[in-house]
Amino acid sequence: MEEPTPKILAVDDSENVLKTLTRIISKGGYRVDTAPDGAAALDKIREWLPDVVVLDVVMPVMDGIELCRRIKDDPTLNFIWVLMLTDKDHVADEVTGLDAGADDYIAKPFYPDVLMARVRKGLRIVRERRDAFFDGLTRLYNKRVFELLLKQETAKSERYDTPLSLILVDLDHFKSVNDTHGHAAGDTVLQHLAAILRDNTRVSDLAVRWGGEEMAVLLPQTDEKGALAMAENLRGLIESHDFPVVGQVTASFGVAQYSAQAPDLFSAADRALYRAKQQGRNQVAGESAEVQQAQPTTILAYPKSL
Ligand code: GH3
Ligand code: MG
Ligand code: MG
Repeated sequence: MEEPTPKILAVDDSENVLKTLTRIISKGGYRVDTAPDGAAALDKIREWLPDVVVLDVVMPVMDGIELCRRIKDDPTLNFIWVLMLTDKDHVADEVTGLDAGADDYIAKPFYPDVLMARVRKGLRIVRERRDAFFDGLTRLYNKRVFELLLKQETAKSERYDTPLSLILVDLDHFKSVNDTHGHAAGDTVLQHLAAILRDNTRVSDLAVRWGGEEMAVLLPQTDEKGALAMAENLRGLIESHDFPVVGQVTASFGVAQYSAQAPDLFSAADRALYRAKQQGRNQVAGESAEVQQAQPTTILAYPKSL
């Protein structure tokens, strides 16, 4: 698949600087957007997920140092390359900026060629970071990250006694979609499905592609009831989406909530998914409520039957 055009966000409270940056960066063939302060930038970053952020240090509302910290503290954003624009007479900004996690800095006034060389350097490294974390086709988290996150989130759920749920999504009869419309059309379906998952879950929810046509959403702070509602909403959105070339596609969902008694959250959701398929596809099935109920009965029944 072709690499998408890199996205660069320029953040500066001076309109003139933003104009200059936009001109220079777009000449390099990249997509550019701008923000006048750190707070506005953070909203845009979460929504647009730029590859590189070029930011000024001194800004109103939220300054560049604080913005940089927020980006680097967020595991879903910290792959972004942060290039700081510092003032020549404020050497201390370089130190503070680098300490806040900035990846690089350039002193104002700068040479356009040098700025672009530094942006290109950032893009090379962001690509490497991305490939390690994200699936190339859908840009969702990859399986390796999913396994790490699952471990981390189940530990958190247990430690803080907060609910954690998992939704597994598997396209229905996807093999015949490929057979009928071709692999490229199938790939586009996967990209649209990923976008539906990403756009309709919370920022704290983690959407992953863990297999070929199998995706998942890990939902911290969410119980099974909430996850079932979320899955049902996603199911409806997929069913009513007009996928290019292919038209209508449906998916089945398996939902489970983590519990210390049934710690294998993935298997629980997978069993539910299996039932959703068995019961006719294009539907949501839950599992953890059943598992929790079934366990004490089994334990009690065993000695009685001896
Ligand atoms: P079911 O409703 O039981 O899930 O049927 P299914 O056909 O979706 O399931 P099966 O697991 O038999 O087939 C999965 C298909 O997904 C087969 C494979 O070609 C396709 N697939 C897996 N990864 C990709 C991919 O990256 N791109 C495309 N286009 N297809 C893929
Ligand atoms: Mg499958
Ligand atoms: Mg399938």
